[in-house]
Amino acid sequence: MFAANLDRFAQGLPDRQTLPLRISGACENPKCNEAIYPGDEYLDIDGYHYCSEECALEALGARWVTAGYDD
Ligand SMILES: [Zn+2]
Repeated sequence: MFAANLDRFAQGLPDRQTLPLRISGACENPKCNEAIYPGDEYLDIDGYHYCSEECALEALGARWVTAGYDD
């Protein structure tokens, strides 16, 4: 016969490491799409979120050039 455990501390609190991670968003660079978690620092450009300056520059098509040199 099944005996119910009536000890209210038998189960304990849920293990937080087994809970799914809460994701705040993702990098807008389609080549990256890295997840952004609570507490992460990210770059916000007009409401678009990027994980790094490099990702933002790549996604926006920007690049550093040297004046006076054509490439
Ligand atoms: Zn990124």
